[in-house]
Amino acid sequence: MAEKLTDIFGVDVFNETTMIERLPKKTYAALKKTIQNGEDLDPAVADVVANAMKDWAIERGATHFTHWFQPMTGITAEKHDSFISPAPGGKILMEFSGKELIKGEPDASSFPSGGLRATFEARGYTAWDCTSPAFLREDAAGVTLCIPTAFCSYTGEALDKKTPLLRSMEALSDQAVRILKLFGHDEVKTVSCSVGPEQEYFLVDKAKYLKREDLIFSGRTLFGAMPPKGQEMEDHYFGSLKERISAFMKEVNEECWKLGILAKTQHNEVAPAQHELAPIYNTANIATDHNQLVMEVMKKVANRHGLACLLHEKPFAGVNGSGKHDNWSMVTDTGKNLLDPGKTPHENVQFLLFLAAVLKAVDDHADLLRLSASNPGNDHRLGANEAPPAIISVFLGEQLADVLTQLIETGEATSSKQGGKLNIGVHTIPEFKKDATDRNRTSPFAFTGNKFEFRMVGSSMSIAGPNTTLNTIVADVLSDFADELEKAGNFDVAVHDLIKKTVTEHQRIVFNGNGYSDEWVAEAEKRGLPNIKSMVEAIPTMVSEKAVKLFGKHNVFTEVELHSRAEIEYEAYSKTINIEAKTMIEMASKLYVPAVIKYASSLAASINSIKTAVPDADVSVQVDLLKETSSLLASAKAALSALTGYVATAAEKEGAEQADYFRTVVFPAMSVLRAPIDDLELIVDKELWPVPTYGDLLFEV
Ligand code: ADP
Ligand code: MG
Repeated sequence: MAEKLTDIFGVDVFNETTMIERLPKKTYAALKKTIQNGEDLDPAVADVVANAMKDWAIERGATHFTHWFQPMTGITAEKHDSFISPAPGGKILMEFSGKELIKGEPDASSFPSGGLRATFEARGYTAWDCTSPAFLREDAAGVTLCIPTAFCSYTGEALDKKTPLLRSMEALSDQAVRILKLFGHDEVKTVSCSVGPEQEYFLVDKAKYLKREDLIFSGRTLFGAMPPKGQEMEDHYFGSLKERISAFMKEVNEECWKLGILAKTQHNEVAPAQHELAPIYNTANIATDHNQLVMEVMKKVANRHGLACLLHEKPFAGVNGSGKHDNWSMVTDTGKNLLDPGKTPHENVQFLLFLAAVLKAVDDHADLLRLSASNPGNDHRLGANEAPPAIISVFLGEQLADVLTQLIETGEATSSKQGGKLNIGVHTIPEFKKDATDRNRTSPFAFTGNKFEFRMVGSSMSIAGPNTTLNTIVADVLSDFADELEKAGNFDVAVHDLIKKTVTEHQRIVFNGNGYSDEWVAEAEKRGLPNIKSMVEAIPTMVSEKAVKLFGKHNVFTEVELHSRAEIEYEAYSKTINIEAKTMIEMASKLYVPAVIKYASSLAASINSIKTAVPDADVSVQVDLLKETSSLLASAKAALSALTGYVATAAEKEGAEQADYFRTVVFPAMSVLRAPIDDLELIVDKELWPVPTYGDLLFEV
């Protein structure tokens, strides 16, 4: 297998090896300069690359190419063109020019633009992102050459998730390089950010999935009583894999490997039917593309195995939801991780400065980070009764917290706590060195050895947004730091003072305790940390004066782009809740209410026939059941009418006001409808219940 894996890894990618094999030396060198140093690309180079790419793709059976892009829907989009062009004698030629590689022109009018473009101005462009390699995709449509692209409007505004991410990566690089120069590292030309996203997901049986309109339309169950067993036994986390699941994972891994995705870790997660896949980290841009592909591959492969892959943040109430831990660090082009503390962090001034910058960035812009992890699904996790909390804080661990305390209290850090040896008390088990710090699973933003782990991101979200925000806020602080330090007379003194001042001022963001506790919520409020409870409440931060200045200064978003994105977010929220509410109305009126009426009628008939046969028989149990059922049915019917009315009212509103109405009126009304139906599920004859239950979905995979 080991040999086979190395054979298949990256076979579907136009990667460095393939480029070296197939491109003239000069072309390769020019392309590499653009990829590595961000230099402008010569159109002549594009022609040569396009031709080589086409030959490679056709040899592998490709008939079509597509510009693969990431509109603001959060998923990917593509339009396929075949390579054919007419030739004399009724024949065809297979062609692909540099122009076709560099620029595409899909009709942009049906993608969200937040008012950036009137519908009659449909022009949008896709532009080749040569920093992320092209790849082949094989499916029922045949083999398609996919070219990662950015997507923008006729007037140049970004209409996608990739463009701002690329801009933010440049901003971070520029500012980090300025700081490194001050430390004498003139050899560093660029700094990139590495990202490793851990992807959580659920797998359920496809046939059962197809019987649940809520799963089909909204990706989550909108009704469903808790089964007798949930996740309380803690027997699923890291449990041995069922055969059907291992077969799925094996195929997902193979597909990922062929696409050059470094699929590495897989295991069962906390909730029943929940699993995780983590790749080895990569440059943010490629990690983002790969994560989109991982999600696509998972859905496709699940289908082949008679399974449905649920990427929703909260497919089931009452058990854990799914997130995507975004592991993030900064690395120089010379291979040095700027967040690596080394063995003695107290002596590592450069590390402490970058650490201080991240602390300040996260504290100053906690609201923007919170926003970057907001979507309607994540509202069920963040700040609801499940982790992580909606309050942003940073976990540093014992060792770093101690170094910072020394700095703050005495002005000087003179030691770093060490991990020591771990002895389990069994002679045959070798002793080993343990880490200097334990982990903390409850922190939304945790330092984990040589990287930060942003744990708030939702499982279905593109990681482009969170990383765009993270890069920009850190770039901004580094830029202020560089301004100050470049002017300093004595660099050593200035940098020491700056670190001390920064960590002192931003101590409030550091929290090493239990982030899930109620005490923390109270404590965080005392510290003045924002606790933004929902997506709708988070959106205004995007267009705050602070955000406009920040993103504008680093050329990540213009004010117009920010406003359009806020519009899109409001709209996305309203549409999502509208679909959920309408699905509930449909399921309640066409499935649940008729089933309950059938049950109630059979109870009534049974009471009557028993009474006829044995007039003095005790039918009190049936009568009680009938009364309870009828009363719950009445509550459900009342809730159904109310919800229907609210949805109609919501349709008359728009923008922020509409989203707010969905959040504060429609959303709670959905819970009011759900409650009696879930109670009825526990009473009504299983044979009559019209949809598979939580027990069927979660335990019968
Ligand atoms: P855990 O669940 O214990 O946090 P995993 O192995 O599931 O660990 O995931 C850790 C993720 O962090 C992986 O994707 C890994 O490649 C990534 N990672 C490791 N080091 C770095 C780094 N320096 N920068 C960014 N990501 C990293
Ligand atoms: Mg993990």
